[in-house]
Amino acid sequence: MKIDLRSDTLTKPSKGMLEAMMQAKVGDDVYKEDETVNKLEERVAKLFGKPHALFFPSGTMANQAAIKLHTNPGDQVICDKYAHIFNYEGGGASFNSGVSCKLLDGERGMFTAKQVEAAINPPDFYHSPLTTLVAVENTTNKGGGACWDLEELKRIKKVCETNNLGYHLDGARLWNAMVEKNETAKQYGEIFNTISVCFSKGLGCPVGSVLVGDKKLMEKSIRIRKIFGGGMRQVGFLAAAGLYALDNNINLLKEDHKKAKEIALVLNKVNYVDKVEKVETNIVIFTLNNRFSDDVFLETLKTKNVFISNMGQGKLRIVTHLDYNLKMHESLLNILLNL
Ligand SMILES: *Cc1c(COP(=O)(O)O)cnc(C)c1O
Repeated sequence: MKIDLRSDTLTKPSKGMLEAMMQAKVGDDVYKEDETVNKLEERVAKLFGKPHALFFPSGTMANQAAIKLHTNPGDQVICDKYAHIFNYEGGGASFNSGVSCKLLDGERGMFTAKQVEAAINPPDFYHSPLTTLVAVENTTNKGGGACWDLEELKRIKKVCETNNLGYHLDGARLWNAMVEKNETAKQYGEIFNTISVCFSKGLGCPVGSVLVGDKKLMEKSIRIRKIFGGGMRQVGFLAAAGLYALDNNINLLKEDHKKAKEIALVLNKVNYVDKVEKVETNIVIFTLNNRFSDDVFLETLKTKNVFISNMGQGKLRIVTHLDYNLKMHESLLNILLNL
């Protein structure tokens, strides 16, 4: 039995999801004639209380399109030093939009309104780049699946409004945060100008993200998506997976969180772990003491058919997901306890 916990993107579509995909009514989505894509976009827009939503082939492209919509070349984006848009999108912010990132030194990927305020370049000081966008991530990926405090997000919104800055949420794992904290999509829709959400992580779809946002901002989104090469044709087969996931898989995220917390409990007990970061959702980040080197530890797990990620700087990562079942979970806990 292979136990693959490197990422929640590794899930394969379930039987029910595949059946829903096979029954999708499709059309050419570049002509906006794919009724299943239209349905998914309408549904996600409504869920967040936003007027406009657009389907994207990846979360990266949805984020990159958002950055493009909010900025002009030369501008500066404020984000955390752990941000996915800065660390894991191939340098796309500078490549696609010609912007730089001002990195904040946050806590598990989260920062404060005060930090944002201090990072804004004065708009009349033409020597420094013009600050035009604040981007946050919920849950934080490199921050270990941490969930933001809604009140802090609202305080940052005020700072953005006062300073005329766009406000984007990279919500690749926003579903996890909402389930864990009993929050609604509407609450997030009220705070942000644009939000990207991912269907190919915890929700178990093979492909797909949606960008939702305010009307004026989103007017150009379909053009930007085309420029980035993300205009797809009979893509309703993939949107059908998204609709299926909204109906069936959101509540299942709680199981992923429960399992991640149980893994953390075990890691806190064993003698080879130095520190386990606080676990709120489906990501467990931990460091080893000198009983194992990271490489030897990962190799040892591999011999037991267990796969986890090395994030560098001594940090190891376990991500629970839809295809990680109870049997695997029991087996993993045993393996970890007996290394
Ligand atoms: C996975 C992820 C994305 C999008 O990644 P894709 O692989 O392009 O779908 C964006 N932001 C965060 C925080 C992520 O974890």
